[in-house]
Amino acid sequence: MKIFIKTYGCQMNERDSEAAAAMFSARGHEVVDHESLADVLIFNTCSVRDQAERKAVGKIGFMKKLKKERPDLIIGVMGCMAQNRGEELFKELPHLDFVLGTGQLHKLADIVDSIHDDRRAQVALLEPGDEVLTGLGAHYNNSIFASIAITRGCNRYCSYCIVPYVRGREISRSIADIVDEARELVADGTREIMLLGQNVAAFGLGGNINPPPPDHSPFADLLNELCAIEGLKRIRFTSPYPSYFNDKLIDAIAAQPKICRSIHLPLQSGSDRVLKAMNRHYTASQYLEIVDKLRSKMPDVAFSTDIIVGFPGETEEDFNATREMMNRVGYDMAYIFKYSPRQGTVAAKLEDDIPQEVKEERNQVLLSDLEKRTAETNRKLLGSTQEILVEGVSKRNAERWSGKTSTAKTVIFTPGPETTVGELATVRINRVTAVSLFGELQPTPLRGN
Ligand code: SF4
Repeated sequence: MKIFIKTYGCQMNERDSEAAAAMFSARGHEVVDHESLADVLIFNTCSVRDQAERKAVGKIGFMKKLKKERPDLIIGVMGCMAQNRGEELFKELPHLDFVLGTGQLHKLADIVDSIHDDRRAQVALLEPGDEVLTGLGAHYNNSIFASIAITRGCNRYCSYCIVPYVRGREISRSIADIVDEARELVADGTREIMLLGQNVAAFGLGGNINPPPPDHSPFADLLNELCAIEGLKRIRFTSPYPSYFNDKLIDAIAAQPKICRSIHLPLQSGSDRVLKAMNRHYTASQYLEIVDKLRSKMPDVAFSTDIIVGFPGETEEDFNATREMMNRVGYDMAYIFKYSPRQGTVAAKLEDDIPQEVKEERNQVLLSDLEKRTAETNRKLLGSTQEILVEGVSKRNAERWSGKTSTAKTVIFTPGPETTVGELATVRINRVTAVSLFGELQPTPLRGN
């Protein structure tokens, strides 16, 4: 059969779709890149925002016509929206053949095969307490980059977030399992690995939401083991809840140049009052303490973050606290969201009292601050020497190549005869714009390949 998979939402969903593609391919099915070519259409959905659900429902609804023309077509929905809406989706989208909730990935290929044989609609949803880690390890896209899911689910219950309800309780894979997967990837040519989880820094803590003592961090142990893999050049991870950055984890990151100096540290708000209402278990000053510790050990570290503006009851003062925090930390990048309630969460019971135009205005203020800061950060890099991981021919200019710094900045440069994709190279930055860096290849790498 020919399988088409459309993915919505986060990197975890991208990763699940890739594992699904590998699963189908291993069974002899072909993964195609357009719906018109497919016998099976799978929509891997997101529930984080109402808009994400509406978009997916709209797209799947549109497939009704196709199904009429080709009744043998199998159409299924998986991921967070499938888990969130369950069987109710069959009412809204009667042309659906299956609904596969989160944590059910390992059943996907069997379900599709059985529908192909007997045409009976199926539903498989995650039941609380039944969380499993199967189906996470297969890879499909061979490239110098790969992602590895190290945990599933989340136990934190931030008041605005639907993830714990749709992705289930937090469970972690074993270090040995993850290291085996990484070794195989590296043997196949992967040079940079992104570790994924809703809260990666809580890896291996058994779902305990209390941050561990300063000398205990299974996530640091995992990073150390991965860094020992020969041929693996870089490791990134996302997303870590700030409170788990204890001394052991900070020291482990600082000691390993393979761990990228680009840390995503979700802040959400700079106001303690709002953080409390969000059920975020840290204060602004505790967050700053972590930033300062990381920076004292790694002066070149770059931070990115997530921010929500217009959370219920957010005053001008609260918003200014966020703005000040953002300027104080000096993020390189931020995903700024205008709050919108998600049914089923604790915050959805609060009055969504900040007018849309105020949310928009606050969003714009933060975006404009961010833009100025990014331009300034880029300017400071002029004349500096940077280590990059070479990615290949630049998208905009076939004569130039591009690579990324450890801090996740793209550098455009002219390749030399020995420049190789997936190897580290050294460049001197000789031109910058607000969004890009341009460099000149230097003869000696900063760090051995
Ligand atoms: S840590 Fe909070 S925001 Fe992140 S997935 Fe868990 S509940 Fe959602």
